[in-house]
Amino acid sequence: MTTDQVGAGSETAAPPTDDQLHGKACIGADCTVTAGLTPAGHVYTKTSGAPLGWAVKACPTHAPKESIR
Ligand SMILES: [Zn+2]
Repeated sequence: MTTDQVGAGSETAAPPTDDQLHGKACIGADCTVTAGLTPAGHVYTKTSGAPLGWAVKACPTHAPKESIR
């Protein structure tokens, strides 16, 4: 599952997967960690209608850096 990441062009990140949107996997790009996830705010996906808000989670590596014991 490991692929080399292209250095340039990080503006066009891949859209979150279903697992990421449903909080079953870390929201970090190319991250597939599913253990030790913590709430990481919301992600909004663009649809043809109104934007959808998803309560996402992140692993310790990608979690917001506000709660460092
Ligand atoms: Zn992660």
